[in-house]
Amino acid sequence: MTFPSQAALADRLKHIEGSPTLALAAKAKALAKAGKPVLDFTAGEPDLPTPPSVKQAGISSIEADHTKYTPVAGIPELRSAVVAHVNQLRQTVYQPSQTIVTCGTKHALFNVFQVLCQPGDEVIVVSPYWVSFPSIVQLAGATPVIVEAREDDGFLPEGDALRERISEATKAIILNSPSNPTGAVIDAQRLTAIARLAKEYRLIVVSDEIYDQLVYPPARHVSIVQACPDLIDQTIIVGGVSKTYSMTGWRIGWAVGPQPWIDAMINVQSHSTSNPSSISQDAALAALTGDQRSVGEMRKAFQERRDRMVDGLNRLAGLRCTVPAGAFYAWCNVAALGQSAAVTAAQWLEDALVAAVPGEGFGSSEFIRFSFAASVQTIDEGLKRLSQWFSKR
Ligand code: GLU
Repeated sequence: MTFPSQAALADRLKHIEGSPTLALAAKAKALAKAGKPVLDFTAGEPDLPTPPSVKQAGISSIEADHTKYTPVAGIPELRSAVVAHVNQLRQTVYQPSQTIVTCGTKHALFNVFQVLCQPGDEVIVVSPYWVSFPSIVQLAGATPVIVEAREDDGFLPEGDALRERISEATKAIILNSPSNPTGAVIDAQRLTAIARLAKEYRLIVVSDEIYDQLVYPPARHVSIVQACPDLIDQTIIVGGVSKTYSMTGWRIGWAVGPQPWIDAMINVQSHSTSNPSSISQDAALAALTGDQRSVGEMRKAFQERRDRMVDGLNRLAGLRCTVPAGAFYAWCNVAALGQSAAVTAAQWLEDALVAAVPGEGFGSSEFIRFSFAASVQTIDEGLKRLSQWFSKR
């Protein structure tokens, strides 16, 4: 082998590519920086600023010299606030020891699969899936097994389809409600059916609930541990402050679940990142324990944007977009254009300077994901440019 060499990479990295959502977001930002009037619908990141009181908590944290190591699992005050938050929303009784604070929710998921999975294990991933689920599973040496959720079934996981793919090797299933990229919210009845399967086959449920606060009435968020409280010993919940409090760059997430798994995650984290940023932890504490009005305001603003975006997309010839009940993504069927989503998204970027994420990274070449966590002006202008693009086609 001559160095530097691709062949030196570990086998488990052979199928891992960088996150397409982050790559496209970076591309859109680079175009904007180069002076191009690009309209960015890529990253799932609220355009609103972090609330002022939360920013101030970060500043005060530095001024108070909270700039040293904290306990690996997070400061006790934040661990207590996380479980209080999780318990209040789900009527659970987790203890502060049953949570670990991580460097974002993605990192929480990474820790979860590092401690629960190994080569030979299979993990059921519902498609369309968030781009990083399969890679995080593979990085733990396990194999993602993809189960399709149908558009005409609201992109919801379906019991019989799941059962068909369960094997001796199945260790876990990932649920993500509301879903990135479809916005589908799993109702209590379906959760109960999934919980029954999990019980029958002794599966671990990894429930990614990062968008739990972004559910638009009349839909409401239900966690699988509410639908089936006796699944609590085989469920791990992940979440974070990124989306709810517009804190994506602060990198604070968490996992909450059975004590032995949390303890193992703390061990793993002690050998990798150590504690998440001390300053971000203070800010996250302020977010969770402070005035929650901004959360409702953001939800209301996003609901209006959702309606604008989805209505506008559905008016464009051939496009079809289900109304998402949660999160801030419009998952738009572009199959009628007769070419792959990757090709269409590249054309929209090139011809109209409209940046959205093609569905391939989420498991489908027939859809394009628009984040509507963008200003109303951006949404209106984006729809206008796409309409012009269609009229020239
Ligand atoms: N989760 C967000 C998204 O899907 C942020 C980027 C990422 O981590 O994938 O756009």
